Amino acid sequence: MALVSLRNVTKAYPNPNDGDPILAIDDVSLDIEAGDVFGIIGYSGAGKSTLVRLINALEPVSSGSVVVDGQELAGLPEKQLRPVRLGIGMIFQQFNLFNAKTVWNNVAYPLRVAGASKEKIQARVDELLEFVGLSDKAKNYPEQLSGGQKQRVGIARALATEPRILLCDEATSALDPETTHEVLALLKRVNEEFGVTMVVITHEMDVIQTLATKVAVMDKGRVIETGEVFDVFSDP
Ligand code: ADP
Ligand code: ADP
Repeated sequence: MALVSLRNVTKAYPNPNDGDPILAIDDVSLDIEAGDVFGIIGYSGAGKSTLVRLINALEPVSSGSVVVDGQELAGLPEKQLRPVRLGIGMIFQQFNLFNAKTVWNNVAYPLRVAGASKEKIQARVDELLEFVGLSDKAKNYPEQLSGGQKQRVGIARALATEPRILLCDEATSALDPETTHEVLALLKRVNEEFGVTMVVITHEMDVIQTLATKVAVMDKGRVIETGEVFDVFSDP
């Protein structure tokens, strides 16, 4: 069974202008297999971020089914959603680091929340900072880092609790091309060395072609095409 499976998912938001509800996700079915780097591409407003929030159990679906790691999320009470969220790491366009915490404490944070032991936190944070190449920045604060370094902290923090799934929401959209290339190379290593399944949300074709193996193309809340990147984007 797929690691993430969506069946006939819809998500409607109330219309602020009292009109018909806004159908952010319209009858989407998708299968993301363990080990995939699965790209989701589409223009602004296509529904990509909404889809991420449904997979991450941050919002309930309006109808349909979302199964993550064998667990049906639709209808699950809040308390049972927490362990599902712990199994999913996230990185963001604006990095979302804690600016008042050191690099080291940013990466330690999810482990502290999860109640890990001091020894475990120490070992894991040091190992992750080494993996992302920022051991020498442990005591720095985010504002002292470049954009690429900030995103590497974001990646280390997202991996702290050893999630099976990493959701990347426009993770390189704030970075210049060279830095984008470095971060994409690091994400590729996360997939290859740790076997983390990745869902890569982007509006940039380059990101999909560099990183993803499979892709879904979204438009107006629907998946209009899906398959291997090579097949979807090769000329007919
Ligand atoms: P994308 O990430 O592809 O830019 P979004 O998922 O953010 O797309 O948005 C899809 C559609 O859903 C848009 O029309 C957007 O305005 C609408 N939408 C998203 N979130 C909300 C919300 N919380 N309330 C109302 N409408 C929303
Ligand atoms: P506490 O849990 O009381 O904050 P810690 O021993 O976890 O104490 O950490 C104390 C401080 O030392 C933290 O602010 C952390 O940023 C820093 N620190 C701990 N280990 C390292 C390390 N390996 N490299 C850099 N800074 C570290």
